[in-house]
Amino acid sequence: MPVWIDLFRFCEEGRSQDGECLVRDLPRLGGETAELSAPVRWQAAGRIETLAGVYDEQGAPRRRRALYLAAQTQLTRDCDRCGQPMQVPVDLRSRLEVFDTEDEADAAAMEAADDEFDPIVGARKFDLLAQVEEEILLELPAGVTHEVCPQPVASSSTAPQRVAGQATADAAPQEAPVAGDGRTVRPFAQLDALLKAGAAQTGRKSKK
Ligand SMILES: [Zn+2]
Repeated sequence: MPVWIDLFRFCEEGRSQDGECLVRDLPRLGGETAELSAPVRWQAAGRIETLAGVYDEQGAPRRRRALYLAAQTQLTRDCDRCGQPMQVPVDLRSRLEVFDTEDEADAAAMEAADDEFDPIVGARKFDLLAQVEEEILLELPAGVTHEVCPQPVASSSTAPQRVAGQATADAAPQEAPVAGDGRTVRPFAQLDALLKAGAAQTGRKSKK
């Protein structure tokens, strides 16, 4: 069930939209969890931002189309250590910059001048929900383990090693501090937390 928007207008007109679906409505995400009836709540906001101190070749301040996405859900995945199912909370916050063409997006990704924003290609008919799904999938850890497994694993040592980069069930979502860059206006109260968190995000390095 796609959620179609004109992404360029969505940004230019500073629109916001939110919704709720089930994991089963997102087929690729459904492949990552055993519980398909879990709700997925999502929020999106578009805006045009003028970058302080950055100018194009004509000397005009550079502007970007920004798409802010947030999503919350709970996935059920098997622990890599004991094999028992565990709840993995998902609390997504993404900052994306919308480009006209694949070439422009690729160039932006190569430059990595602003790695707080991941480049995407916009469209007049753009599936917002598919992008939310994509962002969740990109943020998912490759594997998960219980902080303390419910049942001891016979073969493991008494002090199990946590594999670097893996998430734990009770790891609290990180609350990033606000970056006081002064260029954010906040027209959407409900996305205030998203914008604050996003402002300090460093972004993914390996989008492609
Ligand atoms: Zn376990």
